Amino acid sequence: MPSLYDLPFARLEQTLTHAGLRPVHTRPLWRALYRELVAGGAALAAQPDFPPPLKQWITRRLCPGAGDSESFGLEHPEVVDDIPSVDGLTRKFLLRLADGQTVETVLMAYTGRHTACLSTQAGCAMGCVFCATGQMGFVRHLRPAEIVAQVLHAQRVLQAAGQAGLRNLVLMGMGEPLHNYDHLMTALEIITDTRGLNIGPGRISISTVGVVPGILRLADEGRPYNLAVSLHGASEAERAALVPASRRWPLVELIGACRRYGERTGRRIFFEWTLIAGVNDSAATARRLVELLAGLDAHVNLIPLNPTVGFGGVATGTDAVDAFQGVLRDAGFACTVRQRRGIDVAAGCGQLRAEKVRKPAAVAA
Ligand code: SAH
Ligand code: SF4
Repeated sequence: MPSLYDLPFARLEQTLTHAGLRPVHTRPLWRALYRELVAGGAALAAQPDFPPPLKQWITRRLCPGAGDSESFGLEHPEVVDDIPSVDGLTRKFLLRLADGQTVETVLMAYTGRHTACLSTQAGCAMGCVFCATGQMGFVRHLRPAEIVAQVLHAQRVLQAAGQAGLRNLVLMGMGEPLHNYDHLMTALEIITDTRGLNIGPGRISISTVGVVPGILRLADEGRPYNLAVSLHGASEAERAALVPASRRWPLVELIGACRRYGERTGRRIFFEWTLIAGVNDSAATARRLVELLAGLDAHVNLIPLNPTVGFGGVATGTDAVDAFQGVLRDAGFACTVRQRRGIDVAAGCGQLRAEKVRKPAAVAA
């Protein structure tokens, strides 16, 4: 059974009109789902401002027991873990989906604004050696509704705490977003809809390991999201040792796709670089990276490694991080080191599911 949360506005309208309702009924339903965050068929059917035909449709198609071929699910994932960071700025949720798979969603508070980090797959097929999600292998793609549900969950948490809604989204949780391209684009269509959740596309960043066809599709389709590309290596051999997917999409092709993306969209590209001591953190590597990115409008984000059970590397020390950053900045690139706030829970993606380590409770966000 599909979920109602799989349907963008136009599809929901089609569904309602197909059932004999008037198109004007779509707006109040959409508003209840995505603005007022009303959960469940019974609560929806009880909305006082809904016209009777809409209420009847909800009772027939959305309520438990409705169960015919034209019914839709409305289920929400169950929260199986909710871990605040010691500094109270980050909360990490482990959510259980209908089939029992679990994914992570992280809520981060930066300067009073909230950002959610979303998962797009259960597990990941790309196998980056330092990544907890990569170490668990691929399980399945998330459906649009399962991506949307993470945003709804974050919004409900903020609403319950009397906080303003989400401002930014990053697709940097479990999974490779561009390996689940169509479902992600449908989810983002729902999430950015100005009649509902209304999170602007310019406030959404998609992080990819470098799925070349996906990057080219984003450019060709004129998708207005920010793009972040995880590099980690500035030569084919250096990168392939950390990112097996680069054998399929070699660095030379990846940088070519980034150039085309930059030319087509006029957008700056963010490059992520996980710094691993003695592996990819030397000044010589930084200089190779400068050569690789020459001519691109690039911002490099350095992420000191979060240790994972399945990888023996350690994080680069502060002095080497500064030196690496210095080489990039001297060459004229914007280069920042990712803030490690709330790192005790927001550590590398997939680590909560992989380890289920419970940290001492602290102030909630
Ligand atoms: N699959 C996408 C998005 C999810 S990973 C991608 O790879 O870009 C988001 C970011 O976290 C990536 O840049 C990834 O390289 C980084 N990352 C994953 N595990 C990490 C770890 N243990 N330490 C530091 N960065 C990590
Ligand atoms: Fe997948 Fe990204 Fe982890 Fe690589 S870093 S295994 S692409 S989630």
